[in-house]
Amino acid sequence: MSGEQGFMKTEIPAEAERILQMLNERGYEAYIVGGCVRDMILGRQPEDWDITTNALPAQVKSVFRRTVDTGIQHGTVTVMMKGHGYEVTTYRIDGEYSDGRHPDRVAFTPSLAEDLKRRDFTINAMAYNRTTGLVDLFAGREDLKRGIIRCVGNPMERFGEDALRILRAIRFSAQLGFSIEEETGQAIRALAPSLAKVSRERVQAELTKLLLSSSPEKIRLVYDMGAAPYVSQAFCRAGSGECPIPAAIPAKKHLRWAAFLRTAGPETASKVLKDLKMDNDTTNRVRVLTGHLGKAMVPEEARGRQDEEKTALRRLMCEVGGELFDDLLVLKECLAPETENREYLQYLRELAEEIRKAGDCTSLKELAVTGNDVMQAGVAPGRDVGRTLNRLLELVLEDPSRNEKSWLLNHIFDCSSMKKEL
Ligand code: ATP
Ligand code: MG
Repeated sequence: MSGEQGFMKTEIPAEAERILQMLNERGYEAYIVGGCVRDMILGRQPEDWDITTNALPAQVKSVFRRTVDTGIQHGTVTVMMKGHGYEVTTYRIDGEYSDGRHPDRVAFTPSLAEDLKRRDFTINAMAYNRTTGLVDLFAGREDLKRGIIRCVGNPMERFGEDALRILRAIRFSAQLGFSIEEETGQAIRALAPSLAKVSRERVQAELTKLLLSSSPEKIRLVYDMGAAPYVSQAFCRAGSGECPIPAAIPAKKHLRWAAFLRTAGPETASKVLKDLKMDNDTTNRVRVLTGHLGKAMVPEEARGRQDEEKTALRRLMCEVGGELFDDLLVLKECLAPETENREYLQYLRELAEEIRKAGDCTSLKELAVTGNDVMQAGVAPGRDVGRTLNRLLELVLEDPSRNEKSWLLNHIFDCSSMKKEL
């Protein structure tokens, strides 16, 4: 333990400090703990501030005016301070993990040391408050300095208790740019199969954090360390080729996942994400993006002919929608020259801007006629209405000056008669 505070590069928010102080005044021990202590020493901004205390949950609740029972069975009470929630958890020991997934029960303990011992890595097992200073029982600060991910205690036991820690180790190594200590690495390789028992949501959350980190290409470690088959078969197949993921890709989950899965193709990509219980919106976006990342935005034969290039871009905007069109362009720029070189993409970006400035129609919504117009002009209600509108839209995508009600009404007959020939 040490009282010096100069090594803390980030300030504790006043509210968290206040929570520590209020618990203290009631005679309880209280520390900030885990990831936030790690991040403060590194000078990173912690995502959340976790507090650990010897006060029991009911005692914590009696100290504060506004609390929420978020995980009371695990000893966690959320204390609300100025609209922000702080998780306050009673010192605890995790019981047996007979299924390798969840501790069968948690037991409270009066000992901070016991609580720190159950934590995964030395860099995540430090506690701090102003009076005691840093509590670092496993040389976590030294490992932070050396850039090492190391288990607290025996790695075989620790990964055996909770196999998610395998992916957490890899994820932290990507987020922090750290290497995995040798014995910890050996245990990961040996116990990789036990990852199969972990819930797919937890696996997905770790892989997503890894991909959103500043070293997304470190997802290779999941393969190199033998863990990929236990994520899923589709995941294992998807990552078999060389597929760099430039850190310049904006850190949004659909963009990073699409870049990672681009050589797998849209079907495998969406299978990977469905298996991992990814939300439908992200899965759909990744499916669309991976479907287009392998091919050029403008067909070969249209290149160099600006009218046709613009038509191709309008068709693409219409097909994928404006937002995904922008995402696709950004991804392609980051991945250039995989399918187009940078200069050509820059040129396409300018064309896309011209299309938007001109207000060209790129969706049924913007078409100058509606389903009603088409029916009033004599098309029978039913599927023909949609087909006619889509054909009119195709004519407008080719030449946006056609998006006028009178021109379109004059061509309804062409469009519906084309249908009759089919
Ligand atoms: P992040 O920046 O992602 O929030 P974190 O280290 O804060 O990283 P959390 O998942 O928020 O990670 O967990 C908070 C702390 O709880 C960790 O620092 C660690 O001490 C402990 N912890 C979390 N998950 C596990 C686990 N699976 N096994 C052991 N300890 C864990
Ligand atoms: Mg955290």
